[in-house]
Formats: sequence, C-alpha cells, structure tokens
Amino acid sequence: MQLVFATNNPNKIKEVQALVPSHIKLLSLGDIKCTEELPETTGTIEGNAKQKADYIKTHYGYDCFADDTGLEVDALDGEPGVDTAFYAGPQRNADANMAKLLKNLEDKDNRNAHFKTVIALHLNDEYHEFTGICKGSITTEKQGKDGFGYDPVFKAKGYDRTFAEITLEEKNKIGHRGKAVQQLIELLDKL
Ligand code: IMP
Repeated sequence: MQLVFATNNPNKIKEVQALVPSHIKLLSLGDIKCTEELPETTGTIEGNAKQKADYIKTHYGYDCFADDTGLEVDALDGEPGVDTAFYAGPQRNADANMAKLLKNLEDKDNRNAHFKTVIALHLNDEYHEFTGICKGSITTEKQGKDGFGYDPVFKAKGYDRTFAEITLEEKNKIGHRGKAVQQLIELLDKL
C-alpha cells in the first residue's frame, strides 16, 4: 500500500517510514511529481495541515497525510503559532526567530509555552486528525547545540535541559511530533 506524506523533507520521511508497518510505502511530494508549493493560508495549524492533505487528495488523488507544527506561547496570546517558521520574517531563520521570541518575552514572568503538531490524514475515503502537544517553557537564553528551530530555547515540562540538549530518542518520546506520529501509526497498524 502507498501513502503520500506531503513533505519534501527527506528526514521526516525517513523517520516516519521507520515507524509505519512495512507493507506501507511512504511517497514524498517529489515521488508523485508535485513540485508546486502547497497552500498554507488558513491561519491555523489545524487548518493548514488539512489544507495540505486536501490539496494532494484533490489534485493528485492519493491517500495522504500532512503535518503542521507551531509553538504557542501563553504570555504572547499563542504567538508565534501558525507563523512559527517565519516569526522574524520570510527567510525562516531560526536564530532570528529565537531572538525575536526572547525579546518579546524579556519582561514576562510567565514563560509557559507548548509545541503543537497536527497530522491530517485522508485514508480510504475517511478523514482523520491527530494532535500531539508538548508542554514546557521558554528559557531566557539559548542553551545547547543539537536539534533545529526553537530547540535551544524550549524546555519540556519536568526537564532541566532544552530540546537542544537532550537526545533525539528522548525528544521523540516526549515531543509533539512523536506523539502525533504515534497516533497515526496506531491507526495504520490496524489496517
Ligand atoms: P513544520 O510545520 O514542521 O515545518 O514546523 C514549523 C516550524 O516550527 C519550523 O520551521 C520550526 O521553526 C518550528 N518547529 C517545528 N518543530 C520543531 C521542533 O521540534 N523543535 C523546534 N522547532 C520546531
């Protein structure tokens, strides 16, 4: 069985392929010759995940899933949220994004935040949505060298190290994406 993962990020495909049952072959956007930018214009994380999955189902006819992730910070009314990737501008620069976040939180005591990943799935004429949340807080300065995005400024609840200081195995176990992917896999395991 073939299932499209609406991404061109080979790391994401590899990570998830290793977890799904072996009779399911994941195809990337490149594999189905989809070269256009997928629309992400709904203004919400849930909406954008569904919009990307809908686009592939409608235009290419494949069963597929798409993911969308955002960081929601309590003291900033849920910002950067759907704008997480390009918080500091269209260049999607992680250092600039973190600098803007730390600046906006400079005078805030409440540093609570969470990452949210939504996976939208079209499968056998049914639509499913899975949400993974990782609660935590934003540090006052960057800590650690590993990971990507906002990892150096995010500490998961109960951890005294940032996402950039823990192993990938640890992050996958407690992280937002790992939790959403786990729910997807539980459904695929039943097929
Ligand atoms: P995407 O929807 O997976 O492309 O994620 C959107 C943006 O959220 C990325 O560009 C990163 O800035 C940020 N992000 C997503 N997941 C993580 C994570 O696990 N750690 C840190 N930043 C993340």
